[in-house]
Amino acid sequence: MKKSIIVIGGGIVGVAAALQLQLDGHQVRLIDRQQPGRETSYGNAGVLSDSSVVVLNNPVLIKALPKLLLNRSNGLRYNPFFVLRRLGWFVRFLAHCRPSHVKHAAHALRALLQLSLGQHKKWIKAAGVDHLLRHGGGWFKLFRTEKGYANYAAEMDTMREVGVAFSVFDREQIRQIEPGLAPIYHKGVLMDETCAVSSPADLTDAYLALFKAAGGVVDCVTVTGLTRADDRWQVRGNHGASFHSDDVVLAAGAWSAEIAGLLGYDIPMAWERGYHLHFEAGDEPVVTRPVLDVEGGFVVAPMRQGLRVTSGVELTDRDAPPNFSQITRSAALAGEAVKLGKQIEETPWMGRRPTLVDSLPIIGAAPRHDGLWFNFGHHHIGLSIAPGSALLLAALIEKIPPPIDPAPFQASRFSI
Ligand SMILES: Cc1cc2nc3c(=O)[nH]c(=O)nc-3n(C[C@H](O)[C@H](O)[C@H](O)COP(=O)(O)OP(=O)(O)OC[C@H]3O[C@@H](n4cnc5c(N)ncnc54)[C@H](O)[C@@H]3O)c2cc1C
Repeated sequence: MKKSIIVIGGGIVGVAAALQLQLDGHQVRLIDRQQPGRETSYGNAGVLSDSSVVVLNNPVLIKALPKLLLNRSNGLRYNPFFVLRRLGWFVRFLAHCRPSHVKHAAHALRALLQLSLGQHKKWIKAAGVDHLLRHGGGWFKLFRTEKGYANYAAEMDTMREVGVAFSVFDREQIRQIEPGLAPIYHKGVLMDETCAVSSPADLTDAYLALFKAAGGVVDCVTVTGLTRADDRWQVRGNHGASFHSDDVVLAAGAWSAEIAGLLGYDIPMAWERGYHLHFEAGDEPVVTRPVLDVEGGFVVAPMRQGLRVTSGVELTDRDAPPNFSQITRSAALAGEAVKLGKQIEETPWMGRRPTLVDSLPIIGAAPRHDGLWFNFGHHHIGLSIAPGSALLLAALIEKIPPPIDPAPFQASRFSI
C-alpha cells in the first residue's frame, strides 16, 4: 500500500530514506530545520566504506583504556564531566567490548555496507555525478610504528572473517602508491574495494535533486512535536507549521534521541564530535585518496574544497562550545605526513556522530507507535551506510522481504 510519509532530518541518512521511499511510489515530505546535508553529513571524510566492520567497542579499546583515560590521545578526547554525567551510557558502551559482539556487529555491518556501496554506485550514476566518485582503493590506513600495526591485527582478522578485501604494504610500497606522503609510515593497509567522494555535501545535494525530480517535497521547518491520532501522524514545527501523514521516519542524526524523547522513548545515544579544516594543496604531490593515520588519530582527504584534515573523536555535550585543540593538533600532525598549503577557512567545521551503546544504528519500527520508523545512530559510517539503511527501511515499511537481516538493527534490542 502506498502511503504519505514524513521523513524528519535531511542529512545523508534522511535524504537517502526519502529518496528510496519516493522511488517506491510513496508520497514523501522531507523536513529539515535548514538546508539538507549541512550538519554532520557535510564535513565528513567522504569515505564510502565496505570495510568499516569493526565497532569501536571492542576488546582492543579495553586494553587501550588506561592510556586513553590520561586524555592525551589525539584520536580521542573527552570531557570528564560529560562522562560522569553519562556514566550509565559509557558503562553500557564498554560492556559491549566483547569478542562475541565484535563478531555479531561485523557480520551485520558488512551486509549493510555492501548493500549500501552497490546502491551508492547506482544513485551516483542516476544523478549524473560520477565525477564525485573515486572507485576502489579509497581508504588507506597507515601505521607509523610496528607496535601500532601489531595492535591492528585483530581488526584485520575480523575483516578477513567477513570477506573484506584489503592489501598490506610496506614503507617503500606506500611511497609508490602515495608519493605525496612523507616516508614516516611503517605499514599501510589499503581497503581494495572501498570508494570515496570528493564532496559529501555535493553527494547529498545530488540525491536530494533525484528525490525532488521523483516528486518528493522538502520543507524547511524545525520539528517541535509529534502526535498520533485517528491512525494519522501530525508533525508540528516552528512558525505554526503542521503536517499530516500516514507514517513518519525519524532520521535526525544526533538530534533523533531528543525528538524520540517527545514520545517518551529513552534512546541510548551519545555523540562523538569531530572537526575538519581545509588546506590548499602545496606544489608537491598530495594524497589521491583519504588516508587515516591510525596512531596520529586524523584523516587527510582530497576534497573539492582542498585537502580536508578531519579529527578523531571528542566526547562531550552535543551543544557544548567547540574546542579546536584536537583539530589544531591533527593539522600539525598531518603537516608531518603531507605538505599542507595555506589554511583555507579560519574557523574549523564541527559535526556530531550519533552513536548508540552497541555501535549499530537503529533501522526499523519504533516499538510503541504504529507508523513510526527509526533510522539513526549511524556513528562513524553514516555516509557509507545511508543507502542500505534506506533500502532496509523501505522494505520493512512495504512489508516485503528485506534485502538483509533486519534483526541486528531492530529498536527492540533495547528497552526504550
Ligand atoms: C569528522 C567526521 C568524519 C567522518 N567521516 C566519515 C566517512 O568518511 N564516511 C562515513 O561513512 N561517515 C563518516 N562520518 C560519519 C557521518 O558523517 C555521519 O554518520 C552521518 O553524516 C550522519 O548522518 P545523519 O543524516 O544521521 O545526520 P546529520 O547529517 O547530522 O543530519 C541530521 C539532520 O537532522 C536535522 N535536524 C535536527 N533536528 C531537527 C529538528 N528538530 N527538525 C528538523 N530537522 C532537524 C539537522 O538539521 C540535520 O540536517 C564522519 C563524521 C565526522 C564527524
